Amino acid sequence: MQHGADLFVAVRFDSCLQAPYHARAMVNPLRDRRTPQDFAASGQVIEITEKLSGFPRLAEIVEADLLALNPDRLPHDRIESQVTCRLGFGFADAQRRHPKLEGHVEVTVDAVCQRCLEVFRLPVAADLHVVFGEDQSGFAGDDGYEIWELDEETMRPLDVVEEALIMALPFVAMHPDGADCAGRMTDEAGPRETKRPFADLKSRMVNDN
Ligand SMILES: [Zn+2]
Repeated sequence: MQHGADLFVAVRFDSCLQAPYHARAMVNPLRDRRTPQDFAASGQVIEITEKLSGFPRLAEIVEADLLALNPDRLPHDRIESQVTCRLGFGFADAQRRHPKLEGHVEVTVDAVCQRCLEVFRLPVAADLHVVFGEDQSGFAGDDGYEIWELDEETMRPLDVVEEALIMALPFVAMHPDGADCAGRMTDEAGPRETKRPFADLKSRMVNDN
């Protein structure tokens, strides 16, 4: 009996040794941390839908906006927002010196209309045409690429997606024109200068840079 138990443990231990390999294969590609060069060289393509809660900074901004509301005005049937990502890495130049990321990301979040103070579903989307790295001499402005300098050598696609969506948030969230906004008929003075968490956070981000 004792021997059998030892054998069982030994087999279990052996399979544990292989676990990192399998875990690596199943890693969420958005959380994969590599250098932009590495992503580009592998021609990594990511098509994935990820819960908003997987993007903590973005989720926090969205929640902060809703927290400004009286809780009884929050919709009872809140849907967990899904972030849709379509990303492709490659090189922007034939010499393969400039790693690029192209793609489209979008999410529809709950937001508070600053005109009528009701919650509505706000679509947020961003197109990515990004080239990574510091030395982009002779490259700036080409083909409409944005140049992103990274603080570290490596990056996670998730952080790029999150940054792009945060930058795409409107300064003032409002029902789109023509939509059913209760403030449209009565509030001729325009948006109320109440709390504007989106704007506040964005200006803080700018100051941080
Ligand atoms: Zn409204």
